[in-house]
Amino acid sequence: MSNFRFVALAETLNRQVVPVKYPSEKISDFYGSMVFNNDIMREYLTKEAYNSLMMAIETSAKIDRKIADQVASSMKAWAMKNGATHYTHWFHPLTGSTAEKHDAFISPVSGGKGIEEFSGGALIQQEPDASSFPSGGIRNTFEARGYTAWDPTSPAFILEHTLCIPTIFVSYTGESLDYKTPLLKSIDALDVAAVKVCQLFDKNITKVYPTLGWEQEYFLVDSALFAARPDLVLSGKTVFGHSSAKDQQLHDHYFGIIHSRARSFMRDLEIEAHKLGIPLKTRHNEVAPSQFECAPVYEEVNVAVDHNQLLMHLLDLVSRKHHFKVLLHEKPYEGVNGSGKHNNWSLATNTGINLLAPGKTLQENLRFAVILVNILKAVYTYEELVRGSVASASNDLRLGGNEAPPAIISAFIGEQLTRTLDEIEQMPSRKSLVNGKARHSNINIPKIPEILLDNTDRNRTSPFAFTGNKFEFRAVGSTANTAKPMTVLNTIVAEQFSLFFEEVKELMETKMKKEDAVFEVVKNYVRDSKNIRFEGNSYSEEWKQEAARRGLSNFSNTPDAIKAYISEKSIKLFGKHKVLTERELRARYEIKLDKYIRKLQIESRLIGDLSVNHIIPTAIKYQNTLIENARGLKDVLDSKTYVKLSRNQIQTIKEISEHVSEIRQFVEDMTEERKIANRIEHEADKAHSYCYKVKPYFEKIRTHVDKLELLVDDQLWPLPKYRELLFIK
Ligand code: ADP
Ligand code: MG
Repeated sequence: MSNFRFVALAETLNRQVVPVKYPSEKISDFYGSMVFNNDIMREYLTKEAYNSLMMAIETSAKIDRKIADQVASSMKAWAMKNGATHYTHWFHPLTGSTAEKHDAFISPVSGGKGIEEFSGGALIQQEPDASSFPSGGIRNTFEARGYTAWDPTSPAFILEHTLCIPTIFVSYTGESLDYKTPLLKSIDALDVAAVKVCQLFDKNITKVYPTLGWEQEYFLVDSALFAARPDLVLSGKTVFGHSSAKDQQLHDHYFGIIHSRARSFMRDLEIEAHKLGIPLKTRHNEVAPSQFECAPVYEEVNVAVDHNQLLMHLLDLVSRKHHFKVLLHEKPYEGVNGSGKHNNWSLATNTGINLLAPGKTLQENLRFAVILVNILKAVYTYEELVRGSVASASNDLRLGGNEAPPAIISAFIGEQLTRTLDEIEQMPSRKSLVNGKARHSNINIPKIPEILLDNTDRNRTSPFAFTGNKFEFRAVGSTANTAKPMTVLNTIVAEQFSLFFEEVKELMETKMKKEDAVFEVVKNYVRDSKNIRFEGNSYSEEWKQEAARRGLSNFSNTPDAIKAYISEKSIKLFGKHKVLTERELRARYEIKLDKYIRKLQIESRLIGDLSVNHIIPTAIKYQNTLIENARGLKDVLDSKTYVKLSRNQIQTIKEISEHVSEIRQFVEDMTEERKIANRIEHEADKAHSYCYKVKPYFEKIRTHVDKLELLVDDQLWPLPKYRELLFIK
């Protein structure tokens, strides 16, 4: 029987494009049809219940039990009408994926009958047996209780016949065990601090909320080929694989015509996303072969985060129908681009303005400058935490890889704004701004709008770039739960806004005019946060050196990067804004370390197993053929001709032996290091050991395996090759 690789390849040759049928002629007919949205609520709820619910959403007011019962009963009626048989509390535990435990609506009643039930109690709170979710020591198994509680600000939806209710997940003692709880708290903290700052300019602003538009990158691979690669199945990435003769060097995939199989998949994905109210808008081919991106229209952060988690789930669900697997890993293939998830972040107000969009009047532009400069200052002060918020074992492989931003956090704002800030810094007072006495006429802040949009977004190498009316945080990895970076961004900006407000207030108490006080503080901030601004090529070697001179951090791996979560500075920050307590931060830190260790442990085991069970036996089999052939040549050739003609053959036999012996030795050494690491009790030391002692073997072993891939008979090679994985048939 031929090897598994050929079975898989044969299967891919028979693939047909899976036809996709739209549920109706117009997308608007089914858009949001599986969401318990505003219109549906109006239709199903009594006026009283609707108003209470809206009040709860807008002001975080408590929902009373009677109303909850009404909402639950309406949700049940709507869900059943749309084919749901079960309901679940849907939450984001610290595993990184989402969790759900389904309960049927049906309950038995006397006489062997059943009725459908869903009470307000079941809607508001549940107690899943959650002892296996990571808690970082917050929850011992003997007091395993964790509670999920309804988050009415993110609408319930139906997925696969199940009514899903977005919830937070907290411990019996009230500590958060998920990503959503601190995110919601950070949104509140930001609102409080930002409203105070905004009211210096406009008393009508009573609510500020962050917005997020994510751009999700992913790879598609045929499901049969995927199944033939144990490394993809178990770790989401290939641990071996020689680069294909052609991959992305001709730049022919980027924005290219989308393959019909992939396009059909995307259409299906969009249908499912649109039914769930995920506003997917953009799709295109990315740089690497079989790499794609999709992006929605931005939304309020909490909903956008839920929608991204849901979309990652949909990617998996829908891909199965199309005989694909979606690879969300940040670096599934070596040698071609990895995947990220740019987080476009901005601030919106109840008055309908985007605070990062420059306005038309001087007053509006002073406000814009205040917002911009405060964000820069926040990112500068907490650059280590910002870096820590995107750290993971898989994102370590992408950051700094000349295709993604480096591990150094810096901000790009474009030439025009740089000039504006430079001039603000040099201006003696606000008066010169008003009188236009500045050196360049374009310092006149009111002129910002026309020039901004064409003058930003030129620099694709910056990790945190101002792109006209939002910041684009590009260091976020494709697998990340975006709640993590968003929580950090919201909190550090909340802190900065509150400091700013205090400073302005103090100056005003010395009888300084409000505008002058604002200008004075902004001017100081421009000067103090200058080191975070970098307009050049962030991928370059010079920047690394320059950044070090500026004192910016450069943590290339997760164990080092996540220390920022438990620094005194961070503990104070998160505590002050009531986003995370010290205990919660330490728990999160432990969980991240544990996850890092386990990921590396899995990868290391995989490398060992594949080397010993797949690669070495294959290489030896081929080597035996060569040895046999050499012996045969010796029989039929005279010795002089034999010596001359068998030289290359013998050389290959030797090379194979060398590679095999190196692989064997390295695998043995790696296993030894792993054993040593596993015995370390202290988690941080263990992670350090995995990072610095175990991980270096991955590359060493791979080099020899990839060389063997080029030497060994193609017919014998067991693992689908890059040229097969990367191109859709
Ligand atoms: P690209 O970065 O690929 O050039 P776009 O500029 O079209 O893409 O936008 C990328 C993302 O930015 C989209 O998801 C879009 O919705 C989002 N975006 C646009 N405006 C805002 C905003 N005010 N807040 C948050 N995200 C935004
Ligand atoms: Mg982008």
